Amino acid sequence: MIYSRLRLLGWKNLSVMALRFYNSLTQTVEPFAPLSGNVVRMYTCGPTVYNFAHIGNFRSFIFPDILRRWLRTRGYTLDHVMNITDVEDKIIRDSAAAGKSLAEFTEVYTKAFLEDTAALRLERPERIVKATEHIPEMVAAIQALEKEGYTYVSDGSVYYRIAKFPTYGKLSHNDFSGIRSGARVDVDEYDKDDARDFVLWKAKKDAEPAWETPLGAGRPGWHIECSAMAMRYLGATLDIHTGGVDLAFPHHENEIAQSEAITGKQFVRFWLHSEHLSVEGQKMSKSLGNIYTLRDLTAKSYTLEAIRYLLASVPYRKKLNFTFDGLKAAATSIERLRNFKLRLESAHFPAGLNKSLVERTETAQKAFDEALDDDLNTAEGLASVFEFIRDINTAMDAGEFKAGNVVPALAFLDRFDSIFDVLMPAVKEGGLADQEIDALIAERTAAKKARDFARADKVRNDLAALGVILEDTKEGVRWKRQ
Ligand code: AMP
Ligand code: ZN
Repeated sequence: MIYSRLRLLGWKNLSVMALRFYNSLTQTVEPFAPLSGNVVRMYTCGPTVYNFAHIGNFRSFIFPDILRRWLRTRGYTLDHVMNITDVEDKIIRDSAAAGKSLAEFTEVYTKAFLEDTAALRLERPERIVKATEHIPEMVAAIQALEKEGYTYVSDGSVYYRIAKFPTYGKLSHNDFSGIRSGARVDVDEYDKDDARDFVLWKAKKDAEPAWETPLGAGRPGWHIECSAMAMRYLGATLDIHTGGVDLAFPHHENEIAQSEAITGKQFVRFWLHSEHLSVEGQKMSKSLGNIYTLRDLTAKSYTLEAIRYLLASVPYRKKLNFTFDGLKAAATSIERLRNFKLRLESAHFPAGLNKSLVERTETAQKAFDEALDDDLNTAEGLASVFEFIRDINTAMDAGEFKAGNVVPALAFLDRFDSIFDVLMPAVKEGGLADQEIDALIAERTAAKKARDFARADKVRNDLAALGVILEDTKEGVRWKRQ
């Protein structure tokens, strides 16, 4: 709204100045700045750890990674919290089926999740917090709601009375005024489509895991987990809250109802939701057998960088249709980027500086920056990089690119890679360090000089087997990892 108002006031060129995001709460693109000082206080709904996370889940985690990186580029410091939901209906069901305790069961998938996020080069939020380690905070939050009359007890469980919170529905823009209070649902699965009172504290049933608390023996509902942990670390008002679009209702709506009832203050200023990922045009589902984890894809020899690139390349508010062709195209794009970098670093260019190519670099960087400022338009950002590469390659072929142009061009690539982070190949297990590769290349060069071609070929083949490709050029030997 502010954005469009500024436009009316004649800020035609607002795109140049403002970092802005689409806020689900106001349904408009708004200029972003943190509430206080330079620190962005941000919360991301993390995984429910009852299985390996799939690429759809990772889409919702790549997005805050790109967001973090861009906020930092724009000079902000982050205080970012992500939760691990390690107590919840599905977890209880599956851990019981596996004959394991909650802790044993969730530890495996929590560890796998953290390994996967590191493999995908997702920056670690400043704090990763587990629900089971914050039960006292959740109990205190429920007691605060109780005190203000927002709750009622039924069969030992505590429920939130939505009728007491008149602005319920403001995030999902649903009108709930016709819904009868008192009707309730006892599950905290989030794929229900109805707005009803929800459970805050579930009374212990049978042999289910439970905590002895002043609310009785039981466990927290899913929604109170996020409210309590977000407020514990980030205070009453957060700058940004992220999550997949399916979480907006009811999960985030319920987070608002809980937190704002407790503090009387706005809970979140910017709600940012990432769209879903489908696979080859279909919904990911067990029955279709098209749920892919990172392990599934790397076992098919796709690289983590290609997966990262593909997930990051579609702007977060657009639906992403994951295809194997798309993944191959991502690998080709990375190859083009790396080849370009290699050319910049290793080719010999004529001395001097081509001023117009310096300007071309500046224009490319400006276009890249503006694309990311514009609600993280990663597709536009990539377009600016590839147009730049095409123009510079042409200039190089024509001998117009000068030695003095290398540094600014590399600086632009660095800026790109500080966000997309795909240029550096992952070091494979058992792979060679750069120095080892250089030493082997020196050995091959010496063998060739001594006309021991059998030896030289063996070194080349051995390196190829380890994924290192050599290229003999006028300027010497270049190498790259596959
Ligand atoms: P969960 O582990 O089920 O709590 O989900 C973690 C995150 O993954 C949530 O933010 C979900 O919205 C998101 N998510 C789940 N399925 C998909 C999908 N197919 N595409 C994109 N995001 C998804
Ligand atoms: Zn959450």
